[in-house]
Amino acid sequence: MNSALETLRRDFGGDIVEPGAAEYASASRSVLASGSPAYVLRPKSVGDVQAGVRFAAGAGLVLSVRGGGHGFAGFGTNDDGVVIDLGRLADVEIVDKERHLVRIGGGATWGRVAAALAPHGLAISSGDTKSVGVGGLTLSGGIGWKVRKHGLALDNMVAAEVVTADGEVVRAGAEENAELFWAIRGGGGNFGIVTAFEFAAHPTTDVFFGRIAFPAPEAAAVLRGWADHLRAAPEELTSIANLANPLSGGPQAPVEIHVAFDGDDPELAAQAIDPIRRLGTVIEDDVALRPYADTLVDGATLPPGIHLVTRSAFAGRESVPEVLRILAETGAAEQAPFISVRSVGGAVSRVPHDTTAYAHRQAELMFVTTVVGPEPVIQAAGPVLEAIWTRLEPHVDGAYANFLASATEEDVAAIYPARTYERLAAVKRQYDPGNLFARNHNIRPR
Ligand SMILES: Cc1cc2nc3c(=O)[nH]c(=O)nc-3n(C[C@H](O)[C@H](O)[C@H](O)COP(=O)(O)OP(=O)(O)OC[C@H]3O[C@@H](n4cnc5c(N)ncnc54)[C@H](O)[C@@H]3O)c2cc1C
Repeated sequence: MNSALETLRRDFGGDIVEPGAAEYASASRSVLASGSPAYVLRPKSVGDVQAGVRFAAGAGLVLSVRGGGHGFAGFGTNDDGVVIDLGRLADVEIVDKERHLVRIGGGATWGRVAAALAPHGLAISSGDTKSVGVGGLTLSGGIGWKVRKHGLALDNMVAAEVVTADGEVVRAGAEENAELFWAIRGGGGNFGIVTAFEFAAHPTTDVFFGRIAFPAPEAAAVLRGWADHLRAAPEELTSIANLANPLSGGPQAPVEIHVAFDGDDPELAAQAIDPIRRLGTVIEDDVALRPYADTLVDGATLPPGIHLVTRSAFAGRESVPEVLRILAETGAAEQAPFISVRSVGGAVSRVPHDTTAYAHRQAELMFVTTVVGPEPVIQAAGPVLEAIWTRLEPHVDGAYANFLASATEEDVAAIYPARTYERLAAVKRQYDPGNLFARNHNIRPR
């Protein structure tokens, strides 16, 4: 341990934050979880990341990798181990103007990316929040405001620079380390630390974006009509339906349909969005033309003592009506969790199923239940959530790793169907046989 630490202090050019340091309190926690790591390493270069990986492996310490720090399962920190916080590797650089190729540091956040690309008329479909990391979101999917038109964030990744468990740097792309490239597009942080991503961005105009709200009692009809409309709507339209938003009144909260139309033609936008307006009694409608970068909102760090439980699943076409019926009833019940239903399909479903490790290509919808509060609230919600998910179980498929606060074997099996898991395990055996990268929805090498 001592010699590993001496080597780290010699080779590491970034900051090493240890208990007692002024910045330890903020450095030790991720956005949604507290921890007490022995070392928080803040690399400034790829060489620093290599030194950090070799240190954690050599000292036999638990290793957390932190991108934007928003992981729901709290893997971005730990107790007594090492955290490699990539926050300083956050450059965004257009490397090929003609092909719109963008190189992004492994610790960048999506707000930074959107702001950097906006002056060039470019964007990458990512998520809805500025402070969410490019790393965590991309490695497990990335369902953003242009997902139906441009696919998942990982569908737009063309290559990555990865520091593997032995501290070596490799490039993964269609031509090099292709199996690793397959695995990091859905397999999360299991295979190494991505120090830089290369994405193909797309030209963007301003977009029509906003919220259309309906009274809570209209939830069932609105949701049904919304899903039917999205099935045939132009792929420029992406949408999220929220029920029982705790910030707007919980079970009495209006049904909120958020829409994003990827284009600035008012007639085309109206053709795509108006059928949603006709689904019920519109009580609020703030849809307007905005810069794409302005559709992303600020995130917030949970105050101490407040916890968050989130669980997700997918629904295929056959089960959408029943799933939405259950969710509408659930949203109106006392102690309803916050329910968010995201449209997928479109470009996501056109990618052949074995192109990436993300396995839920045929789903029409991805939905999430969330409960936030102090421990007693979380405890009280347990049986309610259990009852809801028991009803949903026969109708839903899989789970979306990016909205999953737990990491049981059942969770991992829901994220990765058996064949995907076996293929991922083979890649894991090759690149991380000792399972150094285990603070994630873990693929076991054996
Ligand atoms: C407020 C909020 C809004 C969200 N909105 C969306 C959304 O619109 N769409 C969506 O799809 N998801 C969304 N998510 C989910 C989000 O994608 C996940 O929480 C994701 O894990 C966050 O990534 P991160 O880098 O910020 O988190 P971190 O906690 O830093 O990372 C999560 C895990 O990813 C791995 N990891 C991160 N970076 C790297 C890297 N560079 N190399 C290797 N491994 C790495 C590590 O295993 C790490 O434990 C949202 C989450 C929150 C909290």
